[in-house]
Amino acid sequence: MNKALYSNLVFDLSRKGCTGYSLPHYDYGKAAGELPENLRRQTPPSLPEIDEPSAVRHYTNSSNNNFGVDTGFYPLGSCTMKYNPKINEAAVAMAGIAPLHPLQPVETVQGALRVYRTLEKALSEIGGMAEFTLNPFAGAHGEYTGLMVIRRYHMARGDEARRRVIVPDSAHGTNPASAAMAGFDIVEVKSMPDGTVDIADLDSKLDETIAAVMMTNPNTVGMFEKGIPEIAEMVHKAGALLYYDGANLNPMLGIARPGDMGFDVMHINLHKTFSTPHGGGGPGAGPVGVRAGLEEYLPNPRVSELPDGTLAIDFGADAFGRVGAWLGNFTVYIKAFAYILSLGSENLMRVGPLATLNANYIMHSLSDLYEQPIAGPCKHEFVFDGLRDKSTGVTTLHVAKALLDYGFHAPTIYFPLLFHESLMIEPTETESRPTLDAFIATMRKIALEASAEPDTVKNAPYTTPISHPDEDEAALNPVVTYRQLCAKQI
Ligand SMILES: *Cc1c(COP(=O)(O)O)cnc(C)c1O
Repeated sequence: MNKALYSNLVFDLSRKGCTGYSLPHYDYGKAAGELPENLRRQTPPSLPEIDEPSAVRHYTNSSNNNFGVDTGFYPLGSCTMKYNPKINEAAVAMAGIAPLHPLQPVETVQGALRVYRTLEKALSEIGGMAEFTLNPFAGAHGEYTGLMVIRRYHMARGDEARRRVIVPDSAHGTNPASAAMAGFDIVEVKSMPDGTVDIADLDSKLDETIAAVMMTNPNTVGMFEKGIPEIAEMVHKAGALLYYDGANLNPMLGIARPGDMGFDVMHINLHKTFSTPHGGGGPGAGPVGVRAGLEEYLPNPRVSELPDGTLAIDFGADAFGRVGAWLGNFTVYIKAFAYILSLGSENLMRVGPLATLNANYIMHSLSDLYEQPIAGPCKHEFVFDGLRDKSTGVTTLHVAKALLDYGFHAPTIYFPLLFHESLMIEPTETESRPTLDAFIATMRKIALEASAEPDTVKNAPYTTPISHPDEDEAALNPVVTYRQLCAKQI
């Protein structure tokens, strides 16, 4: 590509007097009712002046610099992006769905409410919970909602002293943040060297001031918390509730249900596990499920079925309040519903096993060259602690960058913080054997090259528009607007 012709900034392509449009001649300001003189700009806006084909090429080439799950393999997994079947988009665009408005009379949206209610029931079945609300708009929002349910539950029992929530040090950062938003103080519980929760440490922290314990299972390093039945018993005996962070339910689908393990409240990220593209921060949905006995505290509004079979929108008196506008993010529900229906219960139950198989296949195929700090098998994801050959100075960051030249997105790096050179891989269930093999071959090639010619790996990538930006500078002083060097300013 000719870099001079296809600049990163359309302003750099601007040529004075060049135009890419034509509009009919118009005697601006002549007709009655035009903008008053004092509101009109005195100098024309400083816009890029560029011919039409160059403008089209500029934007098309910029868009081609994007990486997505539709253009290549993402070892970042369902937490970031698993493949989202295109038929779900067709479902959302259907004529009966796309134009719906939340202010329509209830009798005109019975079908939409039926989908809503059916999805709530499907998620209850999947999670082993008594009831779900679809109201929350994100995973963190779901955590907040679930914790408010817990808070309301304790208050309804007159148990006002429970103002603290226990969160493992390996938890997703949203866990402590959501607990704080819900008005709780945070108590941290330690992890064992294998990433699972230290049960003795947890036991020592449980008392009558604890409202809830938040858990993620499998945890952030992809290990199954084998102590859950014991933990559930301890937590309940102490009068607290057990919260399940099911943002990433992928490894559990078809294997086990949080409700059966003793969890009282949970959330699911539909935009991770149930197929909604959420690159760039949206849209999402973080439905919250509760076990029997907590339903009445779920937020308003609720969709309920009247005796004659019609559906209504309710506002319960015992709900802790509402968490957002209307009923939530409806298009995300349609995609999740289409995804669940198109897989059917039989195939939905294969998601967890296949995600687990794919992760173990990659881990096993690379662990002679990459350091595996936790003995397997893993669940849906695993962590390497950099390359085995530590003599070369090639770090996890170098490996991640080198992958870009081969058309793979970089995996999650330097998280979790348990290891110095964390490199976390989650392939998801949708990737084929040839894709996994190509990724494994590339990772092996990079590892062998790192030992033979370390500088070649350290200087990668070679094919991307930029290769080694100053990351500290970019994070601390991001330049996100184009400052024009007008004649006056120079
Ligand atoms: C993604 C994630 C969250 C937060 O979900 P958002 O929709 O980004 O707010 C919480 N917990 C875990 C384990 C996650 O992976």
